[in-house]
Formats: sequence, structure tokens, C-alpha cells
Amino acid sequence: MNRDLLEILRCPFCGGRLELVESLFHEATGDTVQHGVIACECCTFPVVDGIPVMHLQASGVAARAQIEAGSPAGALRAMAGVESAEQAERFEAAAASPSSTYKDIVETLGVGLEGGYFMYRFSDPTFVVADAVVRTVAGVVLRGGGRALDVCGGSGHLTRSLLPLSSPPPVLADLFFTKLWLARRFTAPGSIPVCCDGNSPLPFARGAFDFAMCADAIMFLWLKRQFVGELFRAVHGSKRATVLVGHAHNQQVWSPSHGDTLTPAGYRNLFETAAPRVFGESQLFADVVRGEALDLARVQRDATLETEAALTLVASSVDGVFARHPLGLPPALGGEWRINPLYSVSQDGPQLHGRLQFPSEDYEYEYSALREYLPDDVFIDAGAFAALQGGTVPPALQDLIRRRVIVELPKQYY
Ligand SMILES: [Zn+2]
Repeated sequence: MNRDLLEILRCPFCGGRLELVESLFHEATGDTVQHGVIACECCTFPVVDGIPVMHLQASGVAARAQIEAGSPAGALRAMAGVESAEQAERFEAAAASPSSTYKDIVETLGVGLEGGYFMYRFSDPTFVVADAVVRTVAGVVLRGGGRALDVCGGSGHLTRSLLPLSSPPPVLADLFFTKLWLARRFTAPGSIPVCCDGNSPLPFARGAFDFAMCADAIMFLWLKRQFVGELFRAVHGSKRATVLVGHAHNQQVWSPSHGDTLTPAGYRNLFETAAPRVFGESQLFADVVRGEALDLARVQRDATLETEAALTLVASSVDGVFARHPLGLPPALGGEWRINPLYSVSQDGPQLHGRLQFPSEDYEYEYSALREYLPDDVFIDAGAFAALQGGTVPPALQDLIRRRVIVELPKQYY
């Protein structure tokens, strides 16, 4: 954690500024705090492996005790949720090895993390819609500078899309420490991780951001009214203030992992006077599949929205957000080009032959819409693919990139 984060970090309970407690155990070099305890007037919070833990759940309390006892390794174990000495050893060995992949480390922590489906996240239908919307809206709002906040951002798959747009770098906030820790190392290196609870006031100063978002999570928060109010507090006073809530499940249409949902009118009501535009995600998805333009100028009636499984809400006063935006190829973000891991690939002469294979029936059921852009069989020119991996995008592969048959994944993802 760079000490300049303290300029925007605030206690979620008293709203006070935080300072490193120099009299307690800490490891800090120059502007960087690796381990330590930060304090406001009411509370103390640990900084574990460079990530401030701004909640008082059992893991955070245990981690703070470990830091105070001079055991950063014990604090990291507490936050990573390791359950045995044997698991701790496997996790620590994987964490220490520079050649470990995201998948290697996730596997030491148990298959439950990320539902096991993180491998396929960059091409699932929920992601491709959210990615297009986030890149488009943040691209307009943050043109010329401004900072983004991704709350409940998990291991940073969408924060990664914000990296080239947010200056200073985006802040990634989530309750699950391990996801943040993985994001900083693999998925969204350069983003600023903060561990905090979306059901508490957010640990940030008023107006610290210009763009605040939350995707695929609001139905798992109980204090929705407070949460949306907190997103607005985070961007309060910015000339570019924009709040985006993506992939909110609709109470009127059942979906897998449904959560505690509201109706379209109920979600709109959370924004109070800010009057968000509400989009049905099936329309945005159709835009992305067609690949021409993302139409944020469309206005949808509640009667239409009520038939949608998921909704995206955007409140912004920035000119040009609610327009029709041409869709480009997903940008390269410093990762590596791979054939989508949903394909099993074999060499067939000068071509690579990919066959679509779902990891499970549950996955196939929940994400069946990806058949609209991922064909059952694909043939890819091996020479063109090698050129792509060398850094040139051959025209012949553009459509496969657009369709997410070929994806740009973080380095050492799996
Ligand atoms: Zn406090």
C-alpha cells in the first residue's frame, strides 16, 4: 500500500482519516507499507501484504492480532482463509513461486473460489456485456483524467478494463481478500486493492472518485439503499460524477444465483433523484453480438424492462454517455493471446482445430447464450495465431477476437 492511499481512505464507521501506528509492528519502506496497523479515532485496521483490511469481520480481527504479534505470515493465512497447516504450506509455496499461475494459487485455496469458473470469465455473456458497457461509459467519463472505483469487483476482471482509462489507477474494493490479492498479482496489476464490506459505509473520502461502479453483485448486498448512496458519495462533487450498477438481477425473472433482487422500478428508486438510465441486458448483449455499436441512447419502457433477467443502470451528467457508441475489438491489455479455454484444440495441418466443450452441464445451462458468438468448431490459421502472439493482429483473426474465440488473458492466468 502506498501511503498516498491514506489521502482517500477513511474509517467506514467514524469517517476519520487513518494513520500508520508507528509504535506497533510494521514493515514499511519509503512510501510503501507492506504490513502494519492503521488507526483512526475509533478503530484499528490491519494492512496485510500491502492491502488495507477495512472491516471488523473475524478474519480481519484475527489478521490484526497476527500483525500486532509480529507475524505477517499468520495475518496472510487468516485473510486467505487457509484451514490447515498443510494447506498453508501449499498456498505459501505457490505464492512464493514466480512461475505460479492464477489457477495454481486458486487451487491451493480450494475449488470454491470464483465458483471454479474464473477460467472462462473473460468470455462469459455477463462479462462481455459488462466489459463493453464499462469500457464505453468509463471511456467517455474519464477522457482527460479521473479516477474509477470498482466495488465488489472480486478478482478484478472488470477493473482490468478500467486500467487504461483511470488516472490515477482504479481502486478495486471487495470483501474477499484473496480475490484482491490475486487481482493485484495477475488480473489487474497496477490497480489499488482495498478490502471492505459493501454492507458498510465505503472506506473512502467523499468525492475521491469520478466514476464508481458495481457489477454482478448488488443482489448479494442487503443494504442496497446505503450502498448506492455510498457510490454517489464516492463521486460527489466531481464534474464527471457517474455511477454504474451493472448486471442487477430482476425480481420478476428468475435467474441462476438469483440473490436478493428488486424490480426495475425498485433499482431505479435506489438512485433517488439521480434518475438513472435503465437498460435491459438482452438488448446490450444483442448489440455486443452484432459487434457494430453499443446503443446507450435507447430508452426502454418499464414494461419491457420487466421481462429482462438482468439490468444495467447508469447515472451520469457527462455529455456523450447516452449515445450510440461504435464497438471496437476488445483491447490488448498487456496480457497474452490464447485460444479460449472453452475449446479443446488440436493441430490439423497448418490449422488449429478448436471444439467447444463446456466444463459442466451447470455451466452450459447458465451461460448457454455464449453459443451466439462461440461456434461449436473453429479452424484457426496457426501462422496467423503465432503472429498475433508476436504482437500483430492479423485481419483474418479480428472476427475471432471479436467473438472471443481468441481472448487476451492476463499473463500466467492458467
Ligand atoms: Zn473510525
